[in-house]
Amino acid sequence: MKHVREQFIAAPIHVTGYVDGAFAAADGADIPVTDPATGKQVAILHESDADTVDRAVRAARRAITSGPWAGASVAARQKALIAVHDAILENADELAALETLNTGIPYSQTRNIHIPRAAHNFKFFAEFINQDGGEVFTQEPGYMSLVTYEPIGVTALIGPWNMPLGLTAMKMAGALAFGNSCVVKPSELTPLTLYRLFEIIDRKGIFPKGVVNLVNGNGAVTGNALSAHPDIDMVSFTGGTETGARILSALAKGIKGGAMELGGKSASIVFDDADFDRALDGALLGSFMNNGQMCLAGSRLFVHESFADRFLEAFTRRVKALKVGDPFDPATEIGPMINRAQMDRVIRYAESGLGEGATLLAGGRAHDGLKDGFFIEPTAMLATSNALSICQDEIFAPFATIQTFRDEDDVVARANDSRFGLVGYLWTQNLERALRVAAGIKTGTVLINTPIMRDLRTGFGGIRQSGIGREGAKGSRAMFTEMKSTIIALEAPKMPKLGAGA
Ligand code: NDP
Repeated sequence: MKHVREQFIAAPIHVTGYVDGAFAAADGADIPVTDPATGKQVAILHESDADTVDRAVRAARRAITSGPWAGASVAARQKALIAVHDAILENADELAALETLNTGIPYSQTRNIHIPRAAHNFKFFAEFINQDGGEVFTQEPGYMSLVTYEPIGVTALIGPWNMPLGLTAMKMAGALAFGNSCVVKPSELTPLTLYRLFEIIDRKGIFPKGVVNLVNGNGAVTGNALSAHPDIDMVSFTGGTETGARILSALAKGIKGGAMELGGKSASIVFDDADFDRALDGALLGSFMNNGQMCLAGSRLFVHESFADRFLEAFTRRVKALKVGDPFDPATEIGPMINRAQMDRVIRYAESGLGEGATLLAGGRAHDGLKDGFFIEPTAMLATSNALSICQDEIFAPFATIQTFRDEDDVVARANDSRFGLVGYLWTQNLERALRVAAGIKTGTVLINTPIMRDLRTGFGGIRQSGIGREGAKGSRAMFTEMKSTIIALEAPKMPKLGAGA
């Protein structure tokens, strides 16, 4: 699959938007798209300006007010979703190669995990809408009350660069399953796989015109024009906390809602009764998968002091042994950071950690042997306090911090001492402890004895600055529908007759 790199470097493709069933003209500002493993340009993104965004939103509005998608049957929506699922799998090799080329995430992970998961979202929601219905209440004599879920309308779906297709596919699948139209905006850094998916969808004629639209460009220009557009009905956003806050304030002006999947700094607590090897494997995967660029990374480790020395020694040895290299090399475990700014930021965090009294166990600097791309050495630091910036800020990189603890209440308090609240990881073989601590952890999800697991039947999302809303099954339904109550009297209501004494 390495040939994809040569092919794109030799002839960078032109990425535009897709509006009302046609690719937009390449007329916006040119933004270079880079392969983070080589620093070379692989595509030219032509920014969608406010006018293109406006046309996309108007096309999405038309698609749900007239035409075949307006009130489309469950069967019609399922057929379209399954067609997207099949199309992703048919093109999985190429989509995985593009994802790796654009993000630097090892091909072994994009091909085996991210692309199949992107496809799975469409199948999952196709099946979910077949089972899902409203509710009927008959307990009140003389009345029947119905709860139905209606499409919310035009959805704006804005995604990040760390898992561009997988995370945005989840939004698209949910929004479309519940009968909405969408305008998708990928990160300007990583537009390639969504652009290719739209090409495939267009070629196969899966959706009526205007149901799915794509706008590409910088967050401040294209993203802002989309999230502030008066005719969108909601934004489903995955990205950083500051951007999420900006989008929420734009939405507040129109009294509209937004689903926000934001940052995290998740604690991973290894108790003294944990299965040592399983916890060690899980802690490594939870911190270093996806180049460590995961919102749900469990990279703030707490290890019980009774075996901290042994754990630290084994963890450090494995971090130093992580294979950093070309993400297309099957042996590579860690690829490059997304860009130079992110690489420099990671190194600054290692320096600030040292300045604040943490001990460097591994890494903390740019990779000596790989100077073309944005490679850093996988990093682990022993932290003296949870207050250090390396324990409080989301570094979004292959960077783990370790603290030791003695007491259960103390470690729960420290785990909760964070402005984020996405995931809590617990490693223990004691069922009572697992459930007791899980109840005390202030996060949207708790994972017990497993790293980075997501289950679409449950909801995923965060509390505090990790976000608002849950993605998956009923969480996505809440996000992408309006709940409507219809109350019907089955006989003359037993109510006072006003004015009847006249
Ligand atoms: P950003 O917040 O920088 O960007 C996310 C998206 O928002 C991009 O498409 C960006 O465009 C766009 N954007 C930027 N400014 C605006 C604006 N004013 N209006 C509308 N859109 C805008 O996040 P990153 O791409 O850097 O992603 C990393 C972050 O995402 C991390 O904090 C991570 O934790 C979080 N994340 C959360 C997940 C979750 O499920 N909770 C999952 C994965 C990641 P552009 O890039 O073109 O500027």
